[in-house]
Amino acid sequence: MLTIKDKTFVPFITAETIQNRVLELAAQISLDYAGKQPLIVGVLNGAVLFAADLFRNLTIPCEITFIRVASYQATESSGKLKQILGLSESVTDRHLIVVEDIVDTGLTICEVCDQLRAGNPASIAIATLLFKPAALKKEVALDYVGFEIENRFVLGYGLDYDGLGRNTKDILVLQ
Ligand code: 5GP
Repeated sequence: MLTIKDKTFVPFITAETIQNRVLELAAQISLDYAGKQPLIVGVLNGAVLFAADLFRNLTIPCEITFIRVASYQATESSGKLKQILGLSESVTDRHLIVVEDIVDTGLTICEVCDQLRAGNPASIAIATLLFKPAALKKEVALDYVGFEIENRFVLGYGLDYDGLGRNTKDILVLQ
């Protein structure tokens, strides 16, 4: 059990279950990308631990970079737009694997992929540790999913509540 500010979180997915699933995903990606040298694009801050664990278990030549997604109010009519920060590498003709912590409404990952696509990569795949199908608002093809979960607020293993809780090895859920 973990209490952060006014909220209490209880065990949900153990570190061992997470690590076993990460190994499975890494093995699958290593098979799928044999001979391709993909560029792993981790989305900060939430995916930092998942991206690192996935990356270190890939057995193929591969590279890693990290981006941050900033929300900003563009105009009244367009609403909130998201901008990618921190991508210094060229993605042209690269095989990209975007690594997210969680796909909730799907809006973030869709925007990230749309913007990456503008750089003409050879391919884009999405790997997400967690997926909440019930919350999805935008159709999105997820290539690698760690765990499908119900529509509840989770924290740990990179995911935060108000900046805290990212450094737990287990994933916990709001009580
Ligand atoms: P989406 O654009 O898919 O709605 O949102 C994705 C982002 O929302 C994630 O990268 C994450 O930062 C945040 N998010 C969505 N659900 C949760 C959750 O249950 N727990 C935490 N800590 N963050 C979440």
